[in-house]
Amino acid sequence: MMTSTSSLSIDHTHDPALRSWLASANAADTDFPIQNLPLGMARAVGSAEAFRPFTAVGDQALDLVAAADMAALPQEVATVLQACVGQGGLNPLMAAGPALGRQLRHALVAVLEEKAGGDWPARLHAALRPQASLELTLPCRIGDYTDFYAGIHHATTVGKLFRPDNPLLPNYKWVPIGYHGRASSIGVSGQQFRRPLGQTKAPDSETPGFGPCKRLDYELEVGALVGLGNAQGVPVGIEQAEAHLFGLVLLNDWSARDVQAWEYQPLGPFLAKSFATTISPWVVTMEALAPFRRSFSRHADDPQPLPYLDGPANRAQGAVSIQLAVHLQTAGMRETGLAPHRLMQSDFADAYWTFAQMLTHHASNGCNLQSGDLLGSGTQSGPQPDQGGSLLELTHGGKQALTLPNGEQRTFLQDGDSVTLVGVCEAPGRRRIGFGPCVGTVLPAQS
Ligand code: MN
Repeated sequence: MMTSTSSLSIDHTHDPALRSWLASANAADTDFPIQNLPLGMARAVGSAEAFRPFTAVGDQALDLVAAADMAALPQEVATVLQACVGQGGLNPLMAAGPALGRQLRHALVAVLEEKAGGDWPARLHAALRPQASLELTLPCRIGDYTDFYAGIHHATTVGKLFRPDNPLLPNYKWVPIGYHGRASSIGVSGQQFRRPLGQTKAPDSETPGFGPCKRLDYELEVGALVGLGNAQGVPVGIEQAEAHLFGLVLLNDWSARDVQAWEYQPLGPFLAKSFATTISPWVVTMEALAPFRRSFSRHADDPQPLPYLDGPANRAQGAVSIQLAVHLQTAGMRETGLAPHRLMQSDFADAYWTFAQMLTHHASNGCNLQSGDLLGSGTQSGPQPDQGGSLLELTHGGKQALTLPNGEQRTFLQDGDSVTLVGVCEAPGRRRIGFGPCVGTVLPAQS
């Protein structure tokens, strides 16, 4: 249940009037005001030093180990942060559980806020780095990656393309559908990857062929990183699920639609998805998201979740409102200085299942989740046709090309295209926070 120490509770660290002595954190349009404090792993660009935990604040990032060395953070937190350096990821912090994460957040606000006592601004200056001077890597070691399918508008539209008479399979409204993804090819924003090669079969062809994917697509998703794990054989009840979620990132599940159409039956996606997945580098913690939680409910015409996927906290605050968008910049647009063009927007609060339900379902058979595991939400399309979270939807299966501001047309992605996912959280009387961009670029196939 919700208590004063739950990651769902709002406290002084969410106060919209809270300001930092660091001016850029107070800019109206920053994704990283003092109310956010997302966590990531970074080092100086071009250096060979070990990646270290940082928090983003304004256009700067605070080296957390350096801050801890200045006694800005409790000793218990400092010890765990030091372990993160040794492990090359935030896994030790994630495994420590939500109480320690909250200690870190509260300590950071105490030294970064405008009214911070002592000489914190002068001392912490030495631990601040411009974000532009940093190279960010994956925030944690991701042992396993599971991609769910919790966008019902995406599932319905795509289902119609693959199965016109039978778009939503009968299990959809009962089971949080997912497949086991590939962790090794997950990269961080800035990732560039080669167009995949694969086996495809044209509808009018008797036999398949092998070659570069011709229908390369993106998928707009939200990713959840597991904090506390669970022992094998010990499920996680829905009321405990929030305590196992560490934070959220943006996730682009790049997809080879022609490969997918040929390979997906009967066991689901395989090589159509495993060549690359891009996530944003800054993990927005569940604590930071508390003001943007929304109630979760099921339409009366739909089956209500089975009891193991239903509970008062999930009903009251299981959903998260995140304004999501996809922007596309072609090589031609880049060369002529044209900004990325927004293709759509949607709200993560429209997801058919909450992350608590996905996590509970995942562990319900006794499967052990580990700190740093990644859960993808599935493509987050909105209810309207122009809110498709993939090109497959926006171009009606490649039949209706999109026209970009410079006259270029797209059905699927071409070499040199960059896709940027954006996510911001806004609510009346709350400080806006954002995720920072999640960018990936398509390179030509290996010849
Ligand atoms: Mn997906």
